[in-house]
Amino acid sequence: SDVGSQKERVVTEEEWLQKWEMGNIGFHKEQGHPLLQKYLDVLLNGRSGLRIFFPLCGKAVEMKWLADMGHSIVGVEISEQAVKEFFSEHSLPYCEEPVPEISGAKMFQSTSGNISLYCCSIYDLSSSIVGKFDGVWDRGALVAVNPRDRQRYASLMINLVEKNSSYLLVTVSYDPNKHKGPPFYVPESEIQSLFG
Ligand code: SAH
Repeated sequence: SDVGSQKERVVTEEEWLQKWEMGNIGFHKEQGHPLLQKYLDVLLNGRSGLRIFFPLCGKAVEMKWLADMGHSIVGVEISEQAVKEFFSEHSLPYCEEPVPEISGAKMFQSTSGNISLYCCSIYDLSSSIVGKFDGVWDRGALVAVNPRDRQRYASLMINLVEKNSSYLLVTVSYDPNKHKGPPFYVPESEIQSLFG
């Protein structure tokens, strides 16, 4: 019963674009996320020069942190405003190009080449377009996905990672009977059934 009230809820792409336009982005952490610092070793597992994926990336400053450590970052975000704010807030020059495989999509890439942000829906991506990743930072991503799309999201993510990859997932634990979110409540049992 607990997650029943959230199951049918949908946040549309237009609503997300509007949040960015209105500056309604309480989820953005200017200082970055303390849990990434805490579990950085788990993500990297002693490896360097990794390809790290940021699903539903917003303008997460952790992309800059990891790029500065020598990793190569790929993100996906439907709001072009968010993507542009990321580059301008870090004073990173970038170029912009169409993505031939996805109509209407654009790819924004730092001139240095180590940060590539796809501006499109995550559901438009596949490993043939973006390749596979050694690491994933999933914060505000699975928990932002509409409950009806979780299975599709998880299958895609499983497809986008290499065998020996590390996937850091941040969820929020609360009583869904008392709070309707955001973000969506994703119980541990569901994470087990989605990712195994
Ligand atoms: N991970 C970021 C942002 C979390 S908020 C952070 O930690 O700050 C979720 C983000 O997903 C929003 O910026 C929203 O615009 C974007 N988004 C929502 N649905 C999406 C979709 N289907 N494809 C790509 N991005 C999406």
